[in-house]
Amino acid sequence: MPFAWSSTFTLGQPLESSKGDKIILPQPALESIIQAHASAPPPPPPLPDPNYDPTSWSQPQYNPYQHLNKPQELPSPLTFQIRNPANRLLTHGGVKEFSAADGQVHLPVWMMSSLALSPGDQVMIKYAALPKGTWAKFRPLSADYTEILDFRALLEARLRSNYTTLTRGEVLKVHQGAKEFGFVVEELKPEPGEAVCITDTDLEVDIEPLDTEMADGTTQSARGVLNGHGSGSGGNNMDNMLKIGVESQGHVAPKAYQRWTVDVPIRKSGVKITVHVQEPGDLDVVVSTKHSISLQDHIWANFDSVSPRVITIPAADQDYATQQDSQIIHIALHGRESSGSASFGSSTSTAPASAGDAVYSIQVQYHDDQDSSSTPSSVPSTIVDTPNKDAPGYQECDNCGSWIPERTIMLHSNFCHRNNAKCTKCSLVMKKEDLPNHFHCDHCDMHGSISEKNKHMEIYHGWYQCSCESFESPSLPELAKHRRTTCSERFIICRYCHTLVQQGGPSSNARDRMRGLNSHESYCGDRTIQCQKCSQMVSLKDVQVHAQNHEYQRQNQATPHLCSNQNCVRGKGSTVNVLGLCQLCFGPYWIPTEDPKNQKLVQRLARKYHSQLMSGCGNNWCRNQYCATSRGRQMDATSAATEMMGILKEARVGAAEGHKTWLCVDEGTTRKKVMAELLLEEVRGQYAIEWCVKALEAERTDLEAAAQWLHLQAPKVKKAVA
Ligand SMILES: [Zn+2]
Ligand SMILES: [Zn+2]
Ligand SMILES: [Zn+2]
Ligand SMILES: [Zn+2]
Ligand SMILES: [Zn+2]
Ligand SMILES: [Zn+2]
Ligand SMILES: [Zn+2]
Ligand SMILES: [Zn+2]
Repeated sequence: MPFAWSSTFTLGQPLESSKGDKIILPQPALESIIQAHASAPPPPPPLPDPNYDPTSWSQPQYNPYQHLNKPQELPSPLTFQIRNPANRLLTHGGVKEFSAADGQVHLPVWMMSSLALSPGDQVMIKYAALPKGTWAKFRPLSADYTEILDFRALLEARLRSNYTTLTRGEVLKVHQGAKEFGFVVEELKPEPGEAVCITDTDLEVDIEPLDTEMADGTTQSARGVLNGHGSGSGGNNMDNMLKIGVESQGHVAPKAYQRWTVDVPIRKSGVKITVHVQEPGDLDVVVSTKHSISLQDHIWANFDSVSPRVITIPAADQDYATQQDSQIIHIALHGRESSGSASFGSSTSTAPASAGDAVYSIQVQYHDDQDSSSTPSSVPSTIVDTPNKDAPGYQECDNCGSWIPERTIMLHSNFCHRNNAKCTKCSLVMKKEDLPNHFHCDHCDMHGSISEKNKHMEIYHGWYQCSCESFESPSLPELAKHRRTTCSERFIICRYCHTLVQQGGPSSNARDRMRGLNSHESYCGDRTIQCQKCSQMVSLKDVQVHAQNHEYQRQNQATPHLCSNQNCVRGKGSTVNVLGLCQLCFGPYWIPTEDPKNQKLVQRLARKYHSQLMSGCGNNWCRNQYCATSRGRQMDATSAATEMMGILKEARVGAAEGHKTWLCVDEGTTRKKVMAELLLEEVRGQYAIEWCVKALEAERTDLEAAAQWLHLQAPKVKKAVA
């Protein structure tokens, strides 16, 4: 039902945090869209279904009245063409909500800049029914996109969660950590490929590899690796290499980062990272196992203001021990305005540090002592054990609390009161002139020098919002913790599709939450595959349980019963006889007359055995071990009778089970028996001979296929068969 709607709006304030293509329209726009849609000509009634059977009880597919009484719903999603009438630039987008002030529209920042619009400009919005996209080709804007481990998955995740449409020529920005990567929409399908709707579609994404000659120079250098000393300009994106145990120097400008990588192949030992900073410089140290590292993306950090800054990572640390992508540890030093009095130029370092740079040395060492508490504290701890406490001849100073020899207590006390002051909050004794510089945080129990106040307030009592928009905290370390754990934008390797994806929020399904699935995995694991064994469609989530079920059933199958004739491989069938033979083998022993004690039958069997042993069946292919032909030597009547008595007992005539007979069989059966024995050997006795016979029947005597059949279908022999 095509309908037309368009209107012109005044552009309001940009949607700063919007990551997709959704716009905000005013409420009256929705009303006029509904009206335009309602007054559009109704669709023609659908043609009657030729297969419709009025006598059938099943739900008719076709309801001729349906289109009359049910109001047609608005198309979903609503997609719009967004145009700058001044320059005719255009793009497309979906709608987030209808909450703008009357006559206004709000667009995402990127959309405004790509249409060259600023607040107050006129914007034309037109309803546009777009075809469902099937394929999109992107071209990266710079070569460093390869830094993203799986940019395709990242791009797909981004599209799925934020975009309704794609327009040829528009640029998609993708973030990983603090970095931003641009991709141009190069081509779209279906034809004509100007714009497509990508909601509820399987969009195939192609990425055109970037011509290396086209790659900009900065990218090339960004991949470069420098050795030893810090790079020329303090704080850039270059990763410098550190060697374990070797001290390196560097300097970093305020608000810039300098990054180091260190190869830590031995994860059985912990590491200790020590950074000495030259006064009055200040910097933060953040450490991660991931490439993207910044103040908000890190695992370990040191935000102290006193040198040296030390980060000790014990070998048992979970993030450290479970190495993720590589054995590389990333360290970033974030420069800060020095809090102390600026005395530029005092640096005698040979490195060309600019004024204001924090000059430092850095070293990474293996670290094994569990108990060495090398974690520096920015606050000198109060003296806990007091020397000479309660010792005879000593007295406590009422000012500083030290124990002083009685004969000098007066002297000390006078001096102490004149020069020393004790903090009433932490009882720390310091020189009187230092007291004004002593600082206690009002919000937590941190105390130290006043020079640390600004940094402390910024890092622990600021306001931080995650780019996922669902987390905020006053504390930077808390933000970093959120971003590496519960953040919906965190990257994980999906356990079902095995690609790098944003994990999304917690699953809305309680059962999936119990299983520890995030929303991506919850959704991804709903895909079904066909079970190879039962052809049932099984969701990826249930595959394991389903397979266990098959395994249980397989191991607990009843073994098929074979004919008691050791040379026969036929099934026993449903009819039971006193010898436990198959119908074919039993034929000659069927006695039509009364034989209550099976005497006649035993006689017949005895005669058969005797002749088998004495003269044999005469068939050269016979493999019956109690047949003279098979043995290749005949027997005299007496020895044959003696041997016959032995095997006759094993027939257990009349018993319910446990029969064993040795009768000559036909050539075909003999061949089957040989095959079954071959197969048994091939699978090294892991399966019973009964199953080997069954496997050969199922696979038409193809040995290899039969072995495969056994591995898939048959229960294994419980006890190892010698
Ligand atoms: Zn004192
Ligand atoms: Zn204090
Ligand atoms: Zn505090
Ligand atoms: Zn987040
Ligand atoms: Zn997945
Ligand atoms: Zn199955
Ligand atoms: Zn048989
Ligand atoms: Zn024979």
